[in-house]
Amino acid sequence: MWNDFHELISNKKRFLISSHLSLDGDSVGSQIAMRWYLESLGKEVVVYNCDSVPRKFAFLSGAESFSTQIPEDRFDVVVVLDCSNLHRLGWEVATAAPLMANIDHHRDNTCFGSVNIVDNHAAATGEIIYRFFTEEGINYPPFVAEALYAAILTDTGGFRFSNTSSTILKICSELADRGADCSAIYERIYASHSPEGLLLQSRIWATLRYHLGGKVCSMELPLSLLDELGARYSDSEGMADFTITAEGVEVGMMIKYNDTESHFSLRSKGTIDVGRIAQKIPGGGGHFSAAGCTIEQPFDRAFSYMLEILAGELG
Ligand code: 5GP
Ligand code: MN
Repeated sequence: MWNDFHELISNKKRFLISSHLSLDGDSVGSQIAMRWYLESLGKEVVVYNCDSVPRKFAFLSGAESFSTQIPEDRFDVVVVLDCSNLHRLGWEVATAAPLMANIDHHRDNTCFGSVNIVDNHAAATGEIIYRFFTEEGINYPPFVAEALYAAILTDTGGFRFSNTSSTILKICSELADRGADCSAIYERIYASHSPEGLLLQSRIWATLRYHLGGKVCSMELPLSLLDELGARYSDSEGMADFTITAEGVEVGMMIKYNDTESHFSLRSKGTIDVGRIAQKIPGGGGHFSAAGCTIEQPFDRAFSYMLEILAGELG
């Protein structure tokens, strides 16, 4: 699997790394680790993403060098991480380089790369990179162990989701041995809200409603609230996971909307495949238990439409 990757990168000098819109812990951590690896081989590397690094991941060493300035240069290879399709990158990558490596764990990955390393059994793209380093006997420094730990911690929902296996815990144990400080990382990611950010979360909690006889739970964020409170979009990250925490709820959804479009973060407890539901909307997709889609409608219409789909699925 990695032979093709080695072949792709050998004798190449200039690399661009990028990931999906609205960066999460896995996309930030994976990019830090891949950047370190390519630089350790003497390559020139630029990390570019449409969106900036969310405040809670900015402490990760290496994140400070991520750029949001669209690169005008040409590169030899683009490495796309944790991104199921090119649309999710949010920018026109095709002209940036003649070759592309696609490393991801989403099962709906469209294999858009010249080389595709897609393992949908991996809990995180960070796990795929960890395995690569381990198989190759690469001795990575503590800040890379920390980045990979953060990637896995966040994509397993803090070791709560069904992708939390004994294997993933063993991997994290090794990352801790290699220098990842588990309690410090927990505090920075889950317990360092800005005052406005936590206030925003309280307002989102207040929108909680049940539907379809209690099988569906929703929470809402009108994006105008961000300006009102001086909070950031990324302050709401993780809230979607709470929509699935009440007994009897089978599907949870968190809707972020403006006047023209509504983005749904869908969650399931494992009985309903929300990735398949998200795929019913153009551009939508994701995993079995966590997925998302954007309906190009104002909130009321988009919400009724989604409830109609869910009514059909839940019977
Ligand atoms: P979240 O709800 O946390 O933003 O995303 C949950 C999962 O669904 C992630 O794996 C993410 O990549 C995927 N996802 C979220 N929104 C979209 C979307 O609009 N399109 C696709 N294809 N996947 C999405
Ligand atoms: Mn991921």
